Amino acid sequence: MTAAARGSPTERYRRERPPVSRECGDELTRITDDIDDPIVKLRYLQSALNEEGDNSALVQLVPIAPARRAWYRLKGLQALDAVADADEEIAERTLNARKTARRVVVGTTAAALLFVPVLVAIVAWQINKWGSTEPKPIAAVASSTEANATVIESATAPMVVSPLLTATPEVAAPVNQPPVAETLAAEDLGIVPAMLWLADRGPDWELYSNGLRIETKYAVKGTARDYRVHSRGGELLPTKFSRPIGILFHTSESDLWPLEPGYEKELRQGSEALLRFVKREQAYNYMIDRFGRVYRVVDDDSRANHAGHGVWARGDEVYLDLNSAFLGVSFESRWEGGRTLPITRAQLIAGRNLTNYLRQRFAIAPEMCVTHGLASVSPKRGLIGYHLDWARGFPFAAFGLPDLYSQPPPSVALFGFNYDSEFLRTVGERWPGLVAAERQFASDARERSISLEDLRRERQEEYRRWRATLPTPAGAESALESANQQSPVSTTVNKRG
Ligand SMILES: [Zn+2]
Repeated sequence: MTAAARGSPTERYRRERPPVSRECGDELTRITDDIDDPIVKLRYLQSALNEEGDNSALVQLVPIAPARRAWYRLKGLQALDAVADADEEIAERTLNARKTARRVVVGTTAAALLFVPVLVAIVAWQINKWGSTEPKPIAAVASSTEANATVIESATAPMVVSPLLTATPEVAAPVNQPPVAETLAAEDLGIVPAMLWLADRGPDWELYSNGLRIETKYAVKGTARDYRVHSRGGELLPTKFSRPIGILFHTSESDLWPLEPGYEKELRQGSEALLRFVKREQAYNYMIDRFGRVYRVVDDDSRANHAGHGVWARGDEVYLDLNSAFLGVSFESRWEGGRTLPITRAQLIAGRNLTNYLRQRFAIAPEMCVTHGLASVSPKRGLIGYHLDWARGFPFAAFGLPDLYSQPPPSVALFGFNYDSEFLRTVGERWPGLVAAERQFASDARERSISLEDLRRERQEEYRRWRATLPTPAGAESALESANQQSPVSTTVNKRG
């Protein structure tokens, strides 16, 4: 039975998207060359594709290729607004490209009017054809563009995030998938994982003594980790580190097929496309698919491009370069109806085994196993929660880790990062640690007899000063430059956050 032929209960939560043309895919890909944050890039691709899905079939009727391409480019640039989040810098940079695209669209459309009779005939023929064919499943597009393998982390996107605990009432629950994820019993807190060893290995897998199997088919070497740490006093300590000090957990929030029998091929293709994207963008060190398969992508000694801007601290040490200092571990998850669906029990078990392995291998302290949603900030807006994956609901207890939602986030406590109503709407209740950090912040202000705003300004200024002392990671700059050379539009979206 094909996916499209399935009954209505399934249709209810499948987002059908007609395949986009190769021309459209190419134009969108060109635009994303300039976005060097892989997460933002995929968020962009998804919004652009969703937008384009409605228009693509009609645009294909336009008989002039440059006009079609200009249209795709124009729409693509407009969709960039969604990720640019009203960023003036980006809007300005894309303005000229938009003007040009608009001119081409208008000009060639006028020319196309000469072909009206032909066009009418084509339209009639197409409409006839649509009536007799069913839309192709999304996976059909995956071969022409990997954009469907969208790793979308909801940077400021509205989202109900309690992947393990809650169901959103307005989202209809899939019939054969419980809205509440299975849970695991809590592990004993704080114990160092038992000695693990490599028990067996093949050409593209490794098996560890705790049952952890790591697929290495997609593994790549990236830029070596190379980072320094600040002291709480603000001094950039001289020691250079090349080993990871922590783990940052993510969810992929992807546009995936439902986890159900009958979709085996699509599920496999979807995960493969996602893995190819993660590999190409070097987005995570590890990815865990919904069957609990663990894939190493960027090797342990290399930095992955997973964290954006973030802050974490331990004892006297403050970490600002999380890409270098932390391993990025992402759980493949399905984004649906404005929220990420719960991860599976297979993923929980695999994630726990992987965490134990990494903790043992790199002597990672339990309080350095953090979630992206807890550490992520937007320096430009001075707000926490730029990325919101695992901003709630990470099963710390099941992983034998301390509950970091109850610890004051250093972004707030040290640098006075704030939050807005959108953050509250998305996250719901404030973390207990956030409440504690705010209390501390207020008492600091009282002690110094200055206003909260003044203290916040001062701390934010401090954050900018600290960040300015960080060495520019090798590779990041050159990748950006080469991207800008490839394309006339210059949109470094990551610079906003
Ligand atoms: Zn993330």
